[in-house]
Amino acid sequence: MIKTSAEIKRVVFEPAALNYPLGKKLYHAFRQKGLEIHFTPSHNRVICVPGKSVQESFVEAKRTLVVGVRRSRHLETCKPSAHYQLPLATSCPAMCEYCYLFTHFGRRPYQRIYVNLSEILELAAEYIERRKPEVTVFEAAATSDPLPVEKYTGNLARTIEFMGNQPLGRLRVVTKFTDVANLLGLDHRGHTRFRFSINAANIIKRFEHGTPPLAERLAAALKIVKAGYLPGFIIAPIFYLDGWQEQYRALFQEIARQPLLAEHNDLTLELITHRFTKKAKTTIETLFPKTELPLDEENRTFKYGQFGYGKYVYPAKVKTEIESFFKEMVAAYLPRAAIEYFI
Ligand code: SF4
Repeated sequence: MIKTSAEIKRVVFEPAALNYPLGKKLYHAFRQKGLEIHFTPSHNRVICVPGKSVQESFVEAKRTLVVGVRRSRHLETCKPSAHYQLPLATSCPAMCEYCYLFTHFGRRPYQRIYVNLSEILELAAEYIERRKPEVTVFEAAATSDPLPVEKYTGNLARTIEFMGNQPLGRLRVVTKFTDVANLLGLDHRGHTRFRFSINAANIIKRFEHGTPPLAERLAAALKIVKAGYLPGFIIAPIFYLDGWQEQYRALFQEIARQPLLAEHNDLTLELITHRFTKKAKTTIETLFPKTELPLDEENRTFKYGQFGYGKYVYPAKVKTEIESFFKEMVAAYLPRAAIEYFI
């Protein structure tokens, strides 16, 4: 069994990061804390991560923080939740067995933060300019869960305030984590939609290792609503496993116990059924040999996704059954919420 820990053990600097004030500050702070410090000429060559087995290397990679500079002048598109990805970090310290990042980041998913946020935000401003007078929506969590590293960078807080100042810019954030204290007093001007990724309690317990339990996520969501952010929930991945209807009904009942959330007049829901790629399946089976995730290709339909690689999704009949059940749950427990998409 893989042991989880959010503690950072070593930090790897790209030398260029030290040319930025945040890079310098982090270098001194991590040295003072006595963490292992390494340097790498490229974030693709992080060779200091130890481990005698694939599992050990994976755990050690999750405890490795790369401090770097984001150089690309290109922002990826981000369907269906936003127009563009706004990369503030990559990966996260948790170890969800189904992690959607396995396809891209494989078995060495070290966490990476960027010290050149001003340049990233300038780029976002250019993208906003190109689309005006239309509003441009950015997703801050497409390649990471941005909350666990916020204590090092403050990047999310700065981005939220930056978007607050953009008449035509909007931000969407999603997290499974709960440390929202430094975000509550920000001048966001209603331009950020803050969603929590949640699931049935049993799914969280079985598959989302190293993440806060459902009750803590809902408590953090309440704080976010009280701070005036637009709220949302992503329920993902939705599993068609034994007892799924009772488990997801209990999830809706749990949300409904909080009137500030359940009766909010602009609460959004994003509903995503479980899917996997061949590459992710291989990684999952290596890292979690006893996984109970449903990964049989024969029970799925193969479908090409937006990045050109294929995914195994639930067959249309199962998907329709899940969709109508979720619509029923939303009508019964969150009648004011809007389902943004179901996939
Ligand atoms: Fe992956 Fe999100 Fe889980 Fe982190 S919290 S392991 S990014 S699914």
